[in-house]
Amino acid sequence: MSDCIFCKIANGEIPSDFVYEDDNFVAFRDVNPQAPVHILVIPKKHYASSAAVSDNSVWSGLMSSAVKIARDLGLEKNGYRMVINTGEQGGQSVPHLHLHLLAGRNLGWPPG
Ligand code: 5GP
Ligand code: ZN
Repeated sequence: MSDCIFCKIANGEIPSDFVYEDDNFVAFRDVNPQAPVHILVIPKKHYASSAAVSDNSVWSGLMSSAVKIARDLGLEKNGYRMVINTGEQGGQSVPHLHLHLLAGRNLGWPPG
């Protein structure tokens, strides 16, 4: 999508430091981090939200990318959280599917 900020990050139109990249996914640090580690993992292909995904390979790729990043950053020791916000009440503000990988502090539960 030409006016989507995460599409522009994924295709290099907006220069970013990728924490991870493969053929179908990229990951980069959140501009407004909510934890010492706050990484966004996204498919390169535009999906407006989790609700728009019908291809299960998106889920396997997204989750396995996030787990690989967590492993590479050594986050298993103290733990981490993966979050996908969907829609207005789900707190989604950017309409391109993304997984938040959060770590580095006690994240608490339940969410507010
Ligand atoms: P959502 O609220 O949609 O689940 O999460 C969107 C996230 O994207 C927010 O945490 C926000 O800080 C982050 N974000 C929005 N615009 C940009 C950007 O241009 N660059 C980066 N790195 N993060 C962004
Ligand atoms: Zn997009």
